[in-house]
Amino acid sequence: MSKILEDTTVYKCRKCGRRADVKVTYAKLLLCGDHFLDYIENRVLNSIRKYKMLNNVRKILVALSGGKDSLSLLYILSRIRNQLGLDEIVGVHIDLGLGAYSDESRILVEKACRDTNIQCTILSLKELTGHTLPELVEITRRPPCSLCGSFKRYLINLLAVELGVDAVILGHHMDDILVFAIKDFLFQDMVDLAKMTPVSTGIQGFLAKKIKLLYEIYEDDLYSYAYFSKIKTTGTQCPFKYMDPFKIAIRKMLDELEEYAPGFKISIARKLAETLGESRESEAIQPCKYCGMPSKNGVCGICNLTMKIYGEPLGPKIRTKIREKYCFTR
Ligand SMILES: [Zn+2]
Ligand SMILES: [Zn+2]
Repeated sequence: MSKILEDTTVYKCRKCGRRADVKVTYAKLLLCGDHFLDYIENRVLNSIRKYKMLNNVRKILVALSGGKDSLSLLYILSRIRNQLGLDEIVGVHIDLGLGAYSDESRILVEKACRDTNIQCTILSLKELTGHTLPELVEITRRPPCSLCGSFKRYLINLLAVELGVDAVILGHHMDDILVFAIKDFLFQDMVDLAKMTPVSTGIQGFLAKKIKLLYEIYEDDLYSYAYFSKIKTTGTQCPFKYMDPFKIAIRKMLDELEEYAPGFKISIARKLAETLGESRESEAIQPCKYCGMPSKNGVCGICNLTMKIYGEPLGPKIRTKIREKYCFTR
């Protein structure tokens, strides 16, 4: 992890000798703000090489929630872009209709995309389904986080397939990945655990490849990265924010172990990646008979859910709207 130094008068940056602004504990490094940004970008480049993340990838879709993780990811990508051999980077943000929180997130994403010169697509849940997330929660009585996750995954994958991108880039950092993986292990959810790999291959035609570019990046590093890049982050919180007690306890344990042995998290993330290998999608996944998106039994989660709400599967209509509005070049 990295700590922004409060009193910086006595330390010098290892690279340039100027006053150090940050201490990178796992690497025993003191760096100024500018060299810290370089350092993190190089760490991401190393992960890309090591895990062969962008092999045969020319066009990517970056999922942008508007939080510090995804916005830092966008800035990192824009700064290392020339070294990646990509033809195109497109950003996508889902406006869930969560009042001030969604409004602010959307504005931050639009600004970050303008600043980094990356094309931005905003998908509105209300426009695509007729309802905002709070309205859908009210109608379905389903837990907001699971509903939100289902729609986000569905819409991002759908846009990726329609745009014909080679991969979707996700903003999950190492702390998130380790917490998810350990929780999956505790609950013996081996199917979900298998997804905690740097690269998930996807299935040609209907399930996009997914890449976790920040696989070896600490959450604290992203705070510091956002701080030194002067990235503006949201001041409001998701009204449905839920603190999972299991995740909090796992996170606390990992933080204590990291404190005791700096670099511990990186070494277990690397072992996890090695053990899991490249995740391959189960052969049981097949296209939904209504909308063509991934499903386990022939009908995808969104068509299944919307059938109950509207009396018809909404997938095909959502797909047509996305195709007509956002994919006019194809
Ligand atoms: Zn420096
Ligand atoms: Zn469907």
